[in-house]
Amino acid sequence: MDNQTFTHKKVLITGASRGIGQAAAREFASHGWHTILTAAHSEEALHNVRDEIIRKYHAPCTAALCDMADYSSVERLFRIIPAPDVLVNNAGISYFGLLSEMTPESWHHVLDTNLSSCFYTSKLSIPSMLHKGYGRIINISSVWGSAGASMEAAYSASKGGMNALTKALAKELAPSNIQVNAIACGLIDTAMNSSLSAEDITTLTDEIPADRLGLPEEVAKLIWQLTEAPSYLTGQILTLDGGWT
Ligand code: NDP
Repeated sequence: MDNQTFTHKKVLITGASRGIGQAAAREFASHGWHTILTAAHSEEALHNVRDEIIRKYHAPCTAALCDMADYSSVERLFRIIPAPDVLVNNAGISYFGLLSEMTPESWHHVLDTNLSSCFYTSKLSIPSMLHKGYGRIINISSVWGSAGASMEAAYSASKGGMNALTKALAKELAPSNIQVNAIACGLIDTAMNSSLSAEDITTLTDEIPADRLGLPEEVAKLIWQLTEAPSYLTGQILTLDGGWT
């Protein structure tokens, strides 16, 4: 890390090796922010994102492999990164299948990755945000968090929990000028949906008034806009779904 690191605003974006996290990293870097990026497994992809950001935007970027579902790993991460001004809880996994056939291990894996991770990163970010008197926490949720999806009960529960966490934590932190909001995404064109067939995509697109999938860059733009939004905006779950739900 160079001296520049300490003069830029810093954003921690979890799960930034591809998809929405990668697009968010580019968005913040284009505004000159120091991006701190994580992924659990995709080391090469994560380093490619970091290298592209430094080359293209000349902005500081720190990349670290970290399993956000594991508290001790997240604690270790926070010992080596600069304290973030903005936290984007984006890392997530999907699980498709009948609940009755889901193992407890898979249930915990989904809940730990999608929900407990937000507790870990928020808990560890809040002290420095309180100290600075400024902070924003933006959680990347799903329309299934309120509507619920068949065959995605654990995923829906994790995002529903994320929505409740957003609202509760927003109340806890509003007096300290830390805003907590979530974006409930509809169907976004990323690797998370790569198991859907072309026919599935056509069927789903027919249900979406915007007549297309959302783009990760559109989610990234809204994440950025939440960073810029008036501080009075907190505790909100903003739906970004092309009018789907
Ligand atoms: P992708 O699968 O494209 O990317 C997921 C990212 O999360 C990857 O960088 C992945 O890296 C990382 N990740 C997964 N598990 C962990 C972990 N334990 N620790 C650290 N990083 C992890 O998904 P999207 O970009 O589509 O999804 C991003 C977020 O948006 C998720 O929370 C998802 O639930 C949400 N969302 C997406 C929708 C969509 O239609 N795409 C709709 C609604 C919500 P690696 O594999 O290396 O660990």
